[in-house]
Amino acid sequence: MKIYNTLSRKKEDFVPIEEGKVRMYVCGPTVYNYIHIGNARPMIVFDTVRRYMLYKGLDVNYVSNFTDVDDKIIKKAQEEGVSAEEISRRYIAECKKDMEAMNIMPATTNPLATQEIPGMIDMIRTLIDKGYAYATEDGTVYYRTRKFGDYGKLSHKNLDDLEAGHRSINVTGEDKEDPLDFVLWKPKKEGEPYWDSPWGQGRPGWHIECSVMSKHYLGDEIDIHAGGEDLIFPHHENEIAQSEAANGVPFSKYWMHNGFLNIDNRKMSKSLGNFFTVREIGEQYDLQVLRFFMLSAHYRSPLNFSAELMEAAKSGLERIHNAADNLLFLAQHTADAQMSDEERKVLEEATEFTKKFDAAMEDDFNTADAIAAVFELVKYCNMHVGEGSSAELARALYDQMKTLCDVLGIILEKEPEILDEEIERLIEERQQARKEKNFARADEIRDQLAAKGILLEDTREGVKWKRA
Ligand code: AMP
Ligand code: ZN
Repeated sequence: MKIYNTLSRKKEDFVPIEEGKVRMYVCGPTVYNYIHIGNARPMIVFDTVRRYMLYKGLDVNYVSNFTDVDDKIIKKAQEEGVSAEEISRRYIAECKKDMEAMNIMPATTNPLATQEIPGMIDMIRTLIDKGYAYATEDGTVYYRTRKFGDYGKLSHKNLDDLEAGHRSINVTGEDKEDPLDFVLWKPKKEGEPYWDSPWGQGRPGWHIECSVMSKHYLGDEIDIHAGGEDLIFPHHENEIAQSEAANGVPFSKYWMHNGFLNIDNRKMSKSLGNFFTVREIGEQYDLQVLRFFMLSAHYRSPLNFSAELMEAAKSGLERIHNAADNLLFLAQHTADAQMSDEERKVLEEATEFTKKFDAAMEDDFNTADAIAAVFELVKYCNMHVGEGSSAELARALYDQMKTLCDVLGIILEKEPEILDEEIERLIEERQQARKEKNFARADEIRDQLAAKGILLEDTREGVKWKRA
């Protein structure tokens, strides 16, 4: 498996620190609004990396945070006249709904920055003790950037160039020893959330959060750290400086960064105002289409969002679904059960497409080529499987297609429709439960049916139902 490592700017063989196990950290969103489809790109891309690794038998410990204390969250809370916690809690819940609709596997752990403050204080203290950080009189703690000899190794930036940039825009004026120093802890301002610390009441800087959450859940040395390419500098560069200085060991072996999602060839971002939320796109399309669209490009390439490309993704996905439905129908309805010798050859030849799929994914997760291999399999099935085929062949090819689609997070099987008899049986059970005053069970059945689009109406003649 080869991964393009931003650190070395090369594709490297992936060798995990501990055999068979992967420790992976993906920087998550700042939660002050619904996520936009740009934020969805790293979620989809790195979920697919995780799925491919699972498919290859690796055990993946996947940690992705929510940044739930931040200027933007505080501003939104002040606008609405509610607490910052209420804002972050609301948008974390909404974000999780979007993630589920995009079929993103829940992370092994989803830490919240506000619940990791003691670890942050510990790491800042260590950095001060080792001479990598200093507190100023107003209670700000800064990282002493020049003290970390490897600063710039990820973004391939030179400290003197950086300093010249800083000088020209003259951002100093604070109590910093050097304009390159960045904040680890900042003193509280009126009306903002704060925590007690040895340097006074305040809150952590953004970069220290990820260093600490990664250490807490994955240890000092991890395999993969990932996020969008805008995070390379300064966020990830600063994380390396903090973690390596504090822990005394290399932080992450591989650094992966996705390219940007653009709109009209301009970066999609909240500050430019040119974005669509995942929720908005979900009103027009099944979010599986959005996922498929994202995976149609290599994750490191920029990707332009357009109605045409979404329509192309929709019809591509339909082609796959039609082929899969057809195979499944044949598997369930064909008279011939067993495969003939000739069919065995057909199946044998089809393994070629899985090999192509795997080869594409092994090459730095080239999902565009992996999807091309799925389309080849679809075409092959449409050519070689039909009414005369055996159920065994149809089932085997369906399973093959499903395995590949699972890696991409594309769902093939529709929710099975609930049959009339099953509905009647559940309604009867609900009536019985009510008679026995087991209202919890009765409500559970009503909810279960509602989830499948079955609405119940209690009338004088008994319970009536209809499909929504
Ligand atoms: P933020 O909430 O801005 O910290 O972003 C959360 C994640 O989304 C980070 O990994 C960003 O790099 C990523 N991201 C934000 N905007 C885009 C975009 N337009 N395209 C791709 N990734 C993005
Ligand atoms: Zn981060």
